[in-house]
This record gives sequence, C-alpha cells and structure tokens, in this order.
Amino acid sequence: MASKHYKINTFGCQMNKSDSERIKTLLGDLGMSETEDDETADLIMYNTCSVRQTAEDRIYGQMREVEKLKAVKPELVVAITGCMPGRDHDGKIRNRMPWVDLFFPTNEMVHLARRLAEIRPEMFDGATAEEYEHYLKIAPVYTTRYSAYVPISTGCNKMCAYCVVPFSRGRQVDRPAQDIISEVRALVENGCLEITLLGQTVNWYRPKDIETFSPNNPLKVNPTNYFGALLWELNQISGLTRIHFTAPHPNHMTPEVIAAMQLPGHLNFLHLPVQSGNNEVLKRMYRPYTREHFVDTIHRLKERLPNLALGTDIIVGFSGETEAQFNDTVSLYKECDFDISYTAMYSVRSGTRASELYKDDVSSAEKKRRWLELQVLMEQTAVRKNQAFIGKTVSVMVDHFAKGICSGNSREMKRVQFKGDKTLIGTIQDVKVDRAVEWVLYGTKT
Ligand code: SF4
Repeated sequence: MASKHYKINTFGCQMNKSDSERIKTLLGDLGMSETEDDETADLIMYNTCSVRQTAEDRIYGQMREVEKLKAVKPELVVAITGCMPGRDHDGKIRNRMPWVDLFFPTNEMVHLARRLAEIRPEMFDGATAEEYEHYLKIAPVYTTRYSAYVPISTGCNKMCAYCVVPFSRGRQVDRPAQDIISEVRALVENGCLEITLLGQTVNWYRPKDIETFSPNNPLKVNPTNYFGALLWELNQISGLTRIHFTAPHPNHMTPEVIAAMQLPGHLNFLHLPVQSGNNEVLKRMYRPYTREHFVDTIHRLKERLPNLALGTDIIVGFSGETEAQFNDTVSLYKECDFDISYTAMYSVRSGTRASELYKDDVSSAEKKRRWLELQVLMEQTAVRKNQAFIGKTVSVMVDHFAKGICSGNSREMKRVQFKGDKTLIGTIQDVKVDRAVEWVLYGTKT
C-alpha cells in the first residue's frame, strides 16, 4: 500500500480546489502518496468543473488521453468527481467515458475508501477508513501553511437560470460555526495568516449552532443570516491578519456583513457577481435584484469603505440580450468602477432553466464582440486604478518566487512584484509601488 501513488487534476473554482484538499486526506489515509506524474500514478482523479461547456470539453479531451493510458496500463484506476458527475442525473456524461472506474459527485467522497476497495480489492484489500457524516467534516491537506481555503457551506438554493451548481452540488448545507471557528483557530496556531471563506452564496450563512457565537458578538442580530456574526468571531482570532470570502450574493450584503468588512482582518477587496446591468436580463436570469439595488449596495459599501477594490462576474450574450441591454452592462461597469471582471460568454448548460426556457440566440461572433468590448473597458479601468497606487505602500502576502522576483497579492487583491528572495514566501511584506500596469503593481520592499 505504501508504494501506491495518486494524482489529482483539479479544474474550476476555489471550492473544487478545497474539495481536492479533502480527497488528499482520504487517499493519504489509505497509505497513498501524491505524484505529479501520470506514468507513476496508480490512481488518477479528475475533480471537474461544469460551469461552461468549454470546461467539460477539456475533460472529454483529457479522457481520450486517459483511455490510451489505460490501454497500456489496465490496472490504473481512473476516477472522476466534482460537477460533471454531480449534474449527470441521466447518466449521459458517464456513458461517454465507459473506461472510467469511479464516477461520483463531490458529496459522495465520504465513501471513496469503500468504493476503491470494491473495484480493486487486490490494491485496497483490508483498507479501512473513517466514514464521515458529511464530506466537509474531513480535515483537508492544506496546499500551503500560510493561506487556506475554508468552506463554510456548499450547494446553492438560488437556481439562477444559467447555472448548474444547484444540480451539481445540491441545496445549500451550512457547516456548524463551531467547526469553522475551530478549524481557523488551529490554522492560525500553525502559522496561517490568511483565510478565504468559501460558499456558493457565502454571505448567506445559517448554522444550526448559533449558541457558538460569543454573547458579546455585536453582529449576532439577524436571525436570517449569521455571516456577519461569523466574520466578527473570526476577527477575534489573534494572528489572523487577512480574511476574505467568495462568492457573495448581492441580495445578502446586509448591514452586518458590511460592518464586519470594516473590521481590521478583512481584505480591502470584494468580489460581488452582478452578471448583467439590465433589469430585464437579470429577471430572465432569475437573479432576484435590480441594477438599482446592486448600485445602491456598492454605494453603501463605498460610504463605509471608500478605497474598497471591487471585482465582479458578468455574462455577455445571455439568451435574448439585445445590444441596448448589453450597453446597460457597460454603463453599470463604469458606474461601479470595478477593478476586475471575470466576463464569460454565455454557454447553454443542459438541465438548467435557461436551457429549457430560452433560445441561445446571440451569435458567437456577437458574444465575442461584447466580451472584447468589456475586456477593453476593464483593462483601461484597471490601468487607471492601478496607477493611483504609485507612490503608495501596499501590504503583500508573498506566495511565489522566481528569478529574484517575489509576487503576491495586496489587500486589494492586486498582483504585486518586487525584488526579494525565496524566504519571503508565506510572509507579509510592505511594498512601495513604483510602477503599475493592467495586472501588476511593481515596487520595492520597504
Ligand atoms: S447564486 Fe446562482 S450563479 Fe451562484 S451558484 Fe447559486 S445558482 Fe449558481
């Protein structure tokens, strides 16, 4: 058993990366070690993303290579988890890859040891592993010591028309507050400086154990949402200097959440997905807010946090989106003055409400044109906003070093580069900005 190796290929969002950290624990408990090499792997796991068709096509492409590998190495175990199995309720995706040995949604990883023993008794004979009541109870193998993902919930109840997540991950399940606070305390005791709280609707958090919150927690006041209260508790953990979260929903930016964001631990950045600046399109997307509500939320945030950097997600070319409706998104981008947008060209996902209700009637060329227009606007905005940092000092969490240059994110989630050495990885450094371009601030360590 000790000589067996696994390789995990993770696609998609931070939640998938965090889930892979839990899978590593399960495989480690079976005596397996990680490898980066397909040739030496006894098990190759794909943790998949279904957010767009291109993401799934990439997996199908890789599976063709895996099929060839299986032909010469038939004992290799190939497993697929994540969003593709999660949304495959009719078995069509599974049927396209008959050579795959294990195909299971994320929340079934708790049975991984048993299922491996069933399909490869000779390899996993006698393997015993703890069966967990929920996969979020599994302690992860963190990728770094200094920065960690901490999921607070999984799944989503929102049912946005274009989105597969409610199908792939199911309805929202909130982790107990006690589990989250204990995990973060243990992380900080082991030297962690930064946490990213994860959830599909991270700012709508309703744990069952609200008695966990301190009696003097001033943000424990909203019986429909305790996310602000959770942030307050985490801010009390001495040594935790950087807290952020993704992805919040515009409808749950409550006064308590905004108040918590003013506490010292919170990064000076918020990623708040808007998707469209047009009310008719938002309605068809089943995003239950208006442009006016979104802009008002940004104003409420900026009143309290005037230098807050903002990111968003936008979909262009959603079913029926006219030129005028797209222009509303462009004007919203300018009005909110986002620092960054992850802009996607709409792609139909089978099983979603949009796939049943609407035609995908904006041409690919038009989607691409709209995407490019927003891309140009984003780059112009980013240069202007980044150049405002010249002469200022930013606080950088160093996460990379190569060829004499350290890189990391500022508290505004700007990428920063400066001369340094490898020992600075995992530390926080003050850097005075000398020069700025679209995606990098260049500076000197003070
Ligand atoms: S809020 Fe909407 S877009 Fe986000 S995960 Fe839920 S259904 Fe998908």
